[in-house]
Amino acid sequence: MKIFSVDFVRPLLLFCSLLAIAGVTAHQITYSRSWHKPLDVVVYPINADSSLETHNYIKSLDDSSFVEIDDWLAKEAARHEVSISRPTHTRLGKEVKSVPPDLPTNGGVIRTVLWGLQLRYWVFRNTPDDASNLRRVRVFVAYQQGEDDKPLAHSVGLQQGLIGVVHAFGLPEQNAQNNIVIAHELLHTVGASDKYNFYGAPEFPIGYANPLRVPLYPQRYAEIMAGKIPTSSYSSYMATSLKSVRINDLTAQEIAWIED
Ligand SMILES: [Zn+2]
Repeated sequence: MKIFSVDFVRPLLLFCSLLAIAGVTAHQITYSRSWHKPLDVVVYPINADSSLETHNYIKSLDDSSFVEIDDWLAKEAARHEVSISRPTHTRLGKEVKSVPPDLPTNGGVIRTVLWGLQLRYWVFRNTPDDASNLRRVRVFVAYQQGEDDKPLAHSVGLQQGLIGVVHAFGLPEQNAQNNIVIAHELLHTVGASDKYNFYGAPEFPIGYANPLRVPLYPQRYAEIMAGKIPTSSYSSYMATSLKSVRINDLTAQEIAWIED
């Protein structure tokens, strides 16, 4: 007697897979935000333009290239009186020989959701080790030399799957700024939201490192989820290193460092 037809089994398998993904995702979100021990962060470099320059740049990277991120998060955690002294442990992973799927530029909700699933499948296929991902963030950094006046593709950080995709210049003089972008996407994976407006300017008050500063302008620091230092209500400039970036109270609440 045939109980299950193929037509019935396929959707059932898909449903079970989605249920399993949802279960893993829920655990990842809980563990990654508990902050009782350092969160593992692995940066997987990708030679996105297949150039010799980018190849040489990637060869120059090691764990110390990202220690600035861990040091900065430790300093910010202390400022917010979080009990953990080192919230993250960031290190360099193996090079990945594939590029992640492009984020749809004019996608609606459905296209973006499908892209999210496609990205998670790509990450599943291309993570070059089999360590547990329950408490670690995987940041895939697509390094390239770039073209004049052509902006890089948008970087993203997803809480679902604890995944970051960063598009960065493979140039030594960009190291400090690359670490800002990696830190920004890393914080997205643990719940932080963007705090800039449609024009890319920091939103007041949520995108200001110190919205209570007197006088308000110029601000001394950029807020990490806004990225720019406001000099007036209509002008701001990019932070050049994490030394001039802070985590404000709202972001600290979003990443479960402090209570609401
Ligand atoms: Zn963002």
